[in-house]
Amino acid sequence: MIVTTFTASPPERRMALVPQVVERLIALGHVVRLPRGVGRSLALADGEFERAGAVMVDDIAAATAEADLVLVMQPPSVEDLDLVREGAIVAGFLDPFFQHELVGALAKRRLRSLCVELMPRTTIAQKMDALSSQASLAGYAAVLIAAERIDKAFPMMTTPAGTIAPARVFVIGVGVAGLQAIATAKRLGARVEAYDTRAVVEEQVRSLGARFVTFDVGETGQTEQGYAKELTPEQLGRQREQMAKVVAGADVVITTAQVFGRRAPRLLSAREVDGMRPGSVVVDLAASSGGNVEGSVAGEEVTTPGGVLIIGSHPMPAKVARDASLMYANNLMHLIAHVFVDGELRSPDDDPIVDGVLLTADGAIRHELLRSTIEGTTS
Ligand code: NAD
Repeated sequence: MIVTTFTASPPERRMALVPQVVERLIALGHVVRLPRGVGRSLALADGEFERAGAVMVDDIAAATAEADLVLVMQPPSVEDLDLVREGAIVAGFLDPFFQHELVGALAKRRLRSLCVELMPRTTIAQKMDALSSQASLAGYAAVLIAAERIDKAFPMMTTPAGTIAPARVFVIGVGVAGLQAIATAKRLGARVEAYDTRAVVEEQVRSLGARFVTFDVGETGQTEQGYAKELTPEQLGRQREQMAKVVAGADVVITTAQVFGRRAPRLLSAREVDGMRPGSVVVDLAASSGGNVEGSVAGEEVTTPGGVLIIGSHPMPAKVARDASLMYANNLMHLIAHVFVDGELRSPDDDPIVDGVLLTADGAIRHELLRSTIEGTTS
């Protein structure tokens, strides 16, 4: 197959292909055609891709004209799809629950698409799980940004001039991102507390040396895939009320809560944020999917009238773009190696991974919930 990808446009710096992975795709028998300058966001010269075996062409139109597979880091625009030739497959992050126009356009143009957000959570799929690889780096980057922006040190320090108390970090949502945030904050010497509606994570929090806090919000739980069940507005209200004290005592709050396929839950309202001391920092990792924190803006830093800095950095893994690109490109390479046999996509009837990620095919949206939502809104 002929494989290509787009050049990253700011604020995105991550890429769907890096030279190491180009080399592996070529070893698998594929041809990689890339537009010149494709690696500029990572300061990767064309020569590095060429040495890995890629064919460099003048521009993206020349690269996509013959491509069978177009890899994307961010969902492409509907105009970008005009460049993709009929019969080709688009694969990567497509943000299907928020990008209804794109999903509708993929189906209408009869393009097949492989959506990595829909990856099943099974052992065999772990190496293709881009949500996890990127969430892990996001959790790490969130702590580093908070440590850089806050007006105090993270570790306890005993000096002749006096003793500095460790920073208090509160992580809300202990999935892949939250666990990495806890581990990173601990490594920097902070005192860490964490909360999740899925009580099963308590053990993992403790094993990282952090304290798990509990609140009584009634029945909570998780789906078969391990995702949190959505709380009712009343439960979220109770959660906020009980969390206010822990939030007020924290120097840094990192929120990572997501509910699959839904707008992110509102974990902190202005009231809880106002309870924090001026100079403290909140990092909202869900800023681009509706925001866990009232007042957070995706891609921006906002200081509240009470002096609390709310960071809605997006895309957070772009802060460590080189490693994030390598992990993502590896995820895609494993996906390609699994779902294609002799250049043909395996049938969704025969393979649970294809069945999970194949979002559009034969001019239709395959995901039932999305189909009814999107066909309802675009017709
Ligand atoms: P996610 O990104 O969907 O959500 C992040 C966290 O927010 C989750 O832990 C969730 O429980 C929590 N959350 C949701 N609503 C909340 C609320 N109101 N208050 C507090 N926290 C709330 O989750 P994720 O990081 O994708 O991981 C979810 C689980 O799936 C984890 O246990 C992870 O280890 C597991 N997982 C399994 C596989 C696999 O088996 N292949 C792959 C990835 C993740």
